[in-house]
Amino acid sequence: MSVQTPATAEAHVVAEPTYAVQVSNVSRVFPGKRGAVTALDDVGLTVSPGEFVSLIGPSGCGKSTLMRLIADLDTPTVGSIEVFGTSARQARLNQSYGIAFQQAGLLPWRTVTGNIELPLELHGVSKAARKTRANELLELVGLTDFANHYPDQLSGGMQQRVAIARSLAERPSLLLMDEPFGALDEMTRERMQNELVRICGETGAAVVFVTHSIPEAVFLSDRVVVMSPRPGRIRDILSVKLGDASQRGENLREEESFFHGVSQVRELLHGEAPTGIRGVETR
Ligand code: ADP
Ligand code: MG
Repeated sequence: MSVQTPATAEAHVVAEPTYAVQVSNVSRVFPGKRGAVTALDDVGLTVSPGEFVSLIGPSGCGKSTLMRLIADLDTPTVGSIEVFGTSARQARLNQSYGIAFQQAGLLPWRTVTGNIELPLELHGVSKAARKTRANELLELVGLTDFANHYPDQLSGGMQQRVAIARSLAERPSLLLMDEPFGALDEMTRERMQNELVRICGETGAAVVFVTHSIPEAVFLSDRVVVMSPRPGRIRDILSVKLGDASQRGENLREEESFFHGVSQVRELLHGEAPTGIRGVETR
């Protein structure tokens, strides 16, 4: 039995962070022999809890730089970044998010299961619980038959699916994904997109997602951030409200609203701003 004083009762009232990610006035300048490169110039972006935001733009416009800053793998030259109300550094130490980047980044001496279980192991999850979770994730990414293989025995696309499974292991409330599906064939890619929508619907995870694919961005996102290069800036943000997870099925790819979103993003990328409302709403 415990007697709770008003002071301890108050200590339990922790304000929910309003944002999953808040990027404020961020610039990143890389010094170089032939002059400095401004990879990002005065970028501001907020991502709400549970929101899916894609970054799209030509090569070199700073997408990966922005992701690395959010993940605290690099620090801004100017500006600040908060993740769930703490600094990017603190969020990394707290392991507040799952990461799946372009390179799978698997440990070659661990099996597929060993790689997927790694974050759980680091957090002291029991062996039995790790096994159960790893099996679920193997099923999810279609690699059950490869549980005991080593990364160098897998294709690039399969390695990438292991990395995605690993990023989901702890059901993170934020996923940072930098072209995670780039190495996958089109069929697998669409299946993984469907799964990602389902997973986000189930877990309520926020996602920051870099892609080169306009249809992928439109299919997945609540908002699409269109970036422009030299210096890397946010050119436009398009709201794409194509429905919640249950409404975003395979059929969506055939729908008028989907095509409309695709052509809007394409126009923004090519610098022809559409007139009128920037949003696609169907339901
Ligand atoms: P994207 O992911 O959109 O293709 P990047 O964020 O990788 O673009 O790169 C943006 C710009 O910053 C590019 O011009 C790139 O050459 C430069 N850049 C990125 N990382 C570094 C670095 N570590 N040192 C120097 N320049 C860099
Ligand atoms: Mg990149």
